[in-house]
Amino acid sequence: MASIKGSADVVIIGGGVIGLTIARALALRGVRDVLLVERASLGAEASFAAAGMLVPQAEADAQDDFFNLTCQSRDLYPAFAEALREETGIDVELDTTGTLYLALDDHDQEELKARYEWQTRAGLEVELLSGAVARELEPCISESTVGALLFPKDIQIENRRLLTALANSVNKLGVTIITQTTVHSLISEGNRLTGVETNRGVISCSVAVIAAGTWSGFIKSSTPCKIPQIEPVRGQIVCLEAKPQLTRHVIYSPRGYLVPRQDGRLLAGSTSESAGFAKCVTAGGISAILRNALEISPAIADLPVVDTWAGLRPRAADGLPVLGACDEIDGLFFATGHYRNGILLAPLTGELISKAIVSSLR
Ligand SMILES: Cc1cc2nc3c(=O)[nH]c(=O)nc-3n(C[C@H](O)[C@H](O)[C@H](O)COP(=O)(O)OP(=O)(O)OC[C@H]3O[C@@H](n4cnc5c(N)ncnc54)[C@H](O)[C@@H]3O)c2cc1C
Repeated sequence: MASIKGSADVVIIGGGVIGLTIARALALRGVRDVLLVERASLGAEASFAAAGMLVPQAEADAQDDFFNLTCQSRDLYPAFAEALREETGIDVELDTTGTLYLALDDHDQEELKARYEWQTRAGLEVELLSGAVARELEPCISESTVGALLFPKDIQIENRRLLTALANSVNKLGVTIITQTTVHSLISEGNRLTGVETNRGVISCSVAVIAAGTWSGFIKSSTPCKIPQIEPVRGQIVCLEAKPQLTRHVIYSPRGYLVPRQDGRLLAGSTSESAGFAKCVTAGGISAILRNALEISPAIADLPVVDTWAGLRPRAADGLPVLGACDEIDGLFFATGHYRNGILLAPLTGELISKAIVSSLR
């Protein structure tokens, strides 16, 4: 492979949803010389494996700062999706039908009522439904459903189309993309970043963003600095085919979920496993996913399984995303550790990081 020697104003390390969204946001803010370096190919890791749910309310137990960020990012999606359609002609299939969260026994119902109470107190949109009303809405769900929450604002996107749209967008906006190239280390003089070293040569830059997902912690630095240590948390998905589609809503239970896609795929997820970097599908994983999916909807029993896959969610020690400037090296930024919410948090991450970089360049 030919060596590269070059320079850029900003180098983004990692071409998943986070790196691509930041590259686009920087280009839209007028930063001309943005270069994205991707180890393999664009959008082939966690961002490709995800289920595309934008469901902060369905997953939250309290209204904290993180919850507020996730809601803020979800609410950016309609404009984000529309802008991508205008720029690229690609429909990212933002589906605003909403999310149904089922209680399948009395214990689930307690959890569901607690969520309903704090969210109504906080003024959030949520409806408490009886099992019968939930079944009227989605006839495929289990007859054991004792109640449900309807989150009308918790929506979904086709994350693979999103990645294609982002790749097209950054291309049109003039971002330089280098794939099949790994950034090994950061180069700095004193506490000032001056470049990155790749397996194909050095790229000079005054700003770099680590957006390398679960591999972020492997990037070395010549100046000591706290690179976030990110742990891989494996998630598996079983993809069924339902034509006509079995459900309109994203359907959740405390143990699993079903996500209907417009083309008839029905995603069943997921697992949450510490298995190192082994990105494989396992018999135990598939079995647990199908058990939980059948509990939500026994009607899936007759559907063909058309695909299975696994991805590695990037999790920081405290489970929260690591966003912003590095304390020890001027010009270095982090955008990693998005764990279960990288698709959801992408538009807000793009806004926050691009804004911080642009003010640092002034
Ligand atoms: C099964 C599953 C379901 C999920 N469902 C959802 C969901 O419904 N909603 C949601 O919001 N989130 C979901 N997630 C989480 C979401 O997928 C992640 O949070 C998100 O994709 C992280 O994006 P990223 O760009 O940081 O990482 P990635 O997509 O993993 O991208 C990182 C990129 O960096 C590259 N890279 C790594 N090291 C280097 C290097 N040294 N040099 C150059 N490039 C490098 C990699 O090759 C990779 O392409 C799910 C994840 C899984 C696995």
